[in-house]
Amino acid sequence: MEALLEKVKNNYSEKDVAFFTKAYLFAEQAHKGQMRLSGEPFFGHPHEVANILIDLGLDVSTAIAGLFHDIVEDTNVTLDQVREEFGPEIAKLVDGVTKVGRVDFSSKEEHQAENLRKMFLAMASDIRVILVKLADRMHNMRTLKFQSKDKQMEKAKETLEIYAPLAHRLGINTIKWELEDLALKYIDEQGYYEIAEKLTETRAERKEYINAVIEEIKKHLRAIKVEAEIEGRPKHIYSIYNKIHNKDRVFEEVYDLIAVRIIVKSVRDCYAVLGTVHTVWKPIPGRFKDYIAVPKQNMYQSIHTTVLGRDGRPFEVQIRTREMHSTAEYGIAAHWHYKEGASQNGDMDKKLSWLRELLEWQTDTRDSREFMESLKIDFFSDKVYVFTPKGDVKEFVLGATPLDFAYGIHSEIGNKCVGAKVNGKIVPLGYELKSGDIVEILTSSASKGPSRDWLKAVKTSQAKSKIRNWFRKEQKDENIAKGREMLEREARRKGYDFKTLFKTEWVKGVFKKFTLQSVDDMYAAVGYGGIATGQILTKLIEEYRKENKVEPDREISHHKARKQGDLSGVIVRGYDDMLVRFAKCCNPVPGDSIVGYVTRGRGVSVHRSDCSNVNTADFEQGRMIDVAWSKNEKSAYNVEIQVTADDRTGLIAEISNKLFNMGFSITSVNARMGKNSAAIIVIGLEISDISQLDDILKSMKGVSGVQDVFRIHK
Ligand code: MN
Repeated sequence: MEALLEKVKNNYSEKDVAFFTKAYLFAEQAHKGQMRLSGEPFFGHPHEVANILIDLGLDVSTAIAGLFHDIVEDTNVTLDQVREEFGPEIAKLVDGVTKVGRVDFSSKEEHQAENLRKMFLAMASDIRVILVKLADRMHNMRTLKFQSKDKQMEKAKETLEIYAPLAHRLGINTIKWELEDLALKYIDEQGYYEIAEKLTETRAERKEYINAVIEEIKKHLRAIKVEAEIEGRPKHIYSIYNKIHNKDRVFEEVYDLIAVRIIVKSVRDCYAVLGTVHTVWKPIPGRFKDYIAVPKQNMYQSIHTTVLGRDGRPFEVQIRTREMHSTAEYGIAAHWHYKEGASQNGDMDKKLSWLRELLEWQTDTRDSREFMESLKIDFFSDKVYVFTPKGDVKEFVLGATPLDFAYGIHSEIGNKCVGAKVNGKIVPLGYELKSGDIVEILTSSASKGPSRDWLKAVKTSQAKSKIRNWFRKEQKDENIAKGREMLEREARRKGYDFKTLFKTEWVKGVFKKFTLQSVDDMYAAVGYGGIATGQILTKLIEEYRKENKVEPDREISHHKARKQGDLSGVIVRGYDDMLVRFAKCCNPVPGDSIVGYVTRGRGVSVHRSDCSNVNTADFEQGRMIDVAWSKNEKSAYNVEIQVTADDRTGLIAEISNKLFNMGFSITSVNARMGKNSAAIIVIGLEISDISQLDDILKSMKGVSGVQDVFRIHK
């Protein structure tokens, strides 16, 4: 603790030192008794993570987040406690680090790496969260030798695929290089040590050569009166390894093994130094790069050139200002630098404007757009990244739901979706996906398909259009069936069997009038409400009348009764195909006791047995016929009920609402005043079974003020 505290004292304000010390003791206590695989006390790990963050020059909050990065997952301390003791900023950072830490970033597929990096960025609510995770990974890599072989390989691969590229994007080269070298040691041990040994063998000789070069540069710079710090630049094993393996070169060919870095005070000095270097040594064509004029996407700035030195041996020169150097080493971390003063801590505007500037720098290359995307953190973030159960990463717009996910996998998965699990738990389909979620879609072949509400629950246009497509396609069938039923029903209401009206030449006339292509088109048009049933039936009935020479006044009598074919729900005993209609005088409904009466030319008229008409002398007993209700009928039947009630405002509305809510459609309402200023309301209703009538009567009696309710027997 002593050395670390000393470092903190040297770099932070008194207040920060006290804050850090309190946090240190708190975390040490929380992790007490825990051990690492190395046999050391566990707290050595958070201690080192904080140390790395302090070396990166980060603010005290980030350093404390480093101390606390495992506290929520691995100790009894809760996030609330952290918030209570150390305030919301620390709590937010710790929460971010904990959440990112829960995700398994070890990619199974190489092509997933980029998405995993994006997920990582999208999940971190604050760039400092990533810096803590990078420091965490760095210390874990430094102590990887205590892990099993499998674990070593997995962590090393993950480091190369996820963490080192992230460090690179954020411009933190010190971390990037160390992570790469550490990872390589486990991924290709032999390859790593071959290079390391050769570097050792040649070290003394290189050092001597570099020193000679440095002396010579110094001499020339004194002549032009430019102050500079010049140092030999160590080459990283991983970059040499890549050059040898990707470019098929041998070690000796990787000529920029020797490199010097010249750090000056101003940009003008950079170019002055460049001029001198190119005058003294011969530059190698194609090796000059001016990243000062055109900074790299990760904001790296420097001038690079390679020149031929003594004995034709090339060496690389980097020229940059002190500020550029700090950015090159620490990248984005430099912007949380404690040395810039504690007053800037939490100065979001400044950080934001810096990020924006950075975005404006970006040229229109694909890579830079990708970089911009990846920088969209917190305030920029508009994507969410989630896992499939197999570990593939899927990207969605923020606010996407499991339904977007389902349709994102396949239309059929979406259409058959009946539920979703996120991280193993069932969630509502409207659940908002969060980066890192593992999403599993539950499907059922019995699913009837999407519901209209889904259009509101999905966020992606892809899912929306897939749902709409389903409805368009599926509804066509639905509309056809519905249209057909509507036409049949309306024809019955008008006293016709639709089949008798459905003559090919007449129907063709309808096609022509409404520019329809097929019978299905006609049904569908009626089904979705494009053409009214009346429009079609009028045309067909007109033809029917012409052919059958039916007088209009007969039609009126047709109208009075409802006629149905074999689908009427009534079976005429002994006859298969009798036209059946319901007598309007008593409106029989299923369940009523009924009798049939054979009319002249208009089939069988069905009355209730208790109908007063049936029992008059006008009825010829010889024309009575046995009829019965068939079982499989879904049609609607008309009944009329009379309600007597104390008159009051809203009475009729209440009654009709009640009926509507019970699912009945009201065909007519008539109200008049009766005796003792009671209201008499006669309501026409469609029901499908006599048993429903009991429910209706019961429910009407429950309406306040109602005195009496009964079915009207005409
Ligand atoms: Mn850790």
